[in-house]
Amino acid sequence: MNDRTETLGDMPAEEFRKYGYEVVDWIANYFENIEQYPVLSQIEPGSLKNSLPDSPPESGENFGDVLGDVDKLILPAVTHWNHPNFHGLFSTSTSSVGVFGEMFAAAFDMKAMLWRTSPASTELEDVTLDWLRQMLGLPKQFEGIIYDTASVSTMHAIAAAREQANLRIRDEGMSGRDDLPLLRVYASEHVHSSIDKACITLGLGTRSLRKIECNERFEMKPDALAEAIDEDIEAGFVPLCVIPTIGTTSTSSVDPVDAIADICEKYGIWLHVDTAYAGPAAIVPEKRDLFNGWERADSIVVNPHKWLFTPFDLSVLYCRDLGVLKNAFSLVPEYLKTSDEGSVKNGMDYGIQLGRRFRALKLWFVIRYFGREGLIARLREHCRLASLFASWVEASPDFEMMAPVPFALVCFRARPEGVEDLDSLNERIMNEINASGEAYLSHSKLNGKFTLRLSVGSIRVEERHVKKVWGLLNEKVLYLREQSAGTTGAIQ
Ligand code: PLP
Repeated sequence: MNDRTETLGDMPAEEFRKYGYEVVDWIANYFENIEQYPVLSQIEPGSLKNSLPDSPPESGENFGDVLGDVDKLILPAVTHWNHPNFHGLFSTSTSSVGVFGEMFAAAFDMKAMLWRTSPASTELEDVTLDWLRQMLGLPKQFEGIIYDTASVSTMHAIAAAREQANLRIRDEGMSGRDDLPLLRVYASEHVHSSIDKACITLGLGTRSLRKIECNERFEMKPDALAEAIDEDIEAGFVPLCVIPTIGTTSTSSVDPVDAIADICEKYGIWLHVDTAYAGPAAIVPEKRDLFNGWERADSIVVNPHKWLFTPFDLSVLYCRDLGVLKNAFSLVPEYLKTSDEGSVKNGMDYGIQLGRRFRALKLWFVIRYFGREGLIARLREHCRLASLFASWVEASPDFEMMAPVPFALVCFRARPEGVEDLDSLNERIMNEINASGEAYLSHSKLNGKFTLRLSVGSIRVEERHVKKVWGLLNEKVLYLREQSAGTTGAIQ
């Protein structure tokens, strides 16, 4: 029989201390040596599963052995988001102090539902989000609430818009109602799929989401939006919410929020700004203009877990009037009633979750450790590196830019002379670089063309890392050109 059945309770403090030091050492080494790992995990699908036992251990195991398996089994199956050459999707990474935040949050293990179950989480969340609001330059009325992801923040924003529209949906629902017309949510054709999913989740259906045409810079056309709204009103539909994006997923384009705010104001429509990726860049003074008009929004989503060195997950929803969200979601059963209800903020009132993680702590650590200036310096450097990379693309006869670079994402493709099928060429280049483990790039399709995306956002990224990608890309083009010259005479 194992010790752990004879002695009840947790791991003894001495043992925790011993392994705790080992784990911190392990993480410090990991960050220090991150570049020695392949960016994308090199394992075959199913190989981790196949290397693990089918059933749980009958008696407790030595924790040293468990940690050994992290090295042996888990590590090879990790795709290293913290690697400075992770340039796919949006390059996001944690800072070391963010890891400390997670350690404390796990140790406290509080569930921030009521103020009294979690005064620290509740009050620190308010203070930290107000600090962030000040750094972003948003007006004082904006009050924030933390959720896990932007997908969930936006779903709550649309639910708030629906509550504001006074359609009695909270009580009467949407099904079986003859009195409920089609409700519309408007976003650009480049909107993130989380908006489609929010419409599905809220029972609006994808039919409710009207995607508005963009200009050649991938920005929503306000005239097209106004026309669509007029058309819908004429048809008896109810415009519920408009969602412009500052920093779209495919290209980081910026919808004209100020002009869209005029339209929302005219028709009395909820304005929700999705700036999940680019939002933190509002801290950088020279980027602030890109956010013009967001101060007129009803709600805004910003993700510190994307571009503010805060470990996943932490998404912030700022609302001009958080009370609307409370009207939509507050429901207090007997067992959660407290005598201080009227005088405190209870996190459970602002969404579908009851218990909420102590996420504010890690953001508080990040803001305190780096300070506003430290954050500005890092974000500014990422933008500089992206512009530098774009300048190499522009100067090369073998590559071309596919979209403007307002933040730190470069959309481009290889276009060597004599190649006809550029889509296949670029897809092959991307797949080969990714498979090598040297760097990770992702793609999008812009105007039907396969486009490579290089996102610069890691806290560990330096100029040599983007140079390395540029070298890899040029090597690939050269190799493919030589290969085709030796065979068919054209790259297929
Ligand atoms: N909105 C935008 C503009 C995004 O780029 C993304 C993800 O990249 C999301 C929303 C969804 O973010 P999350 O993973 O936090 O739900």
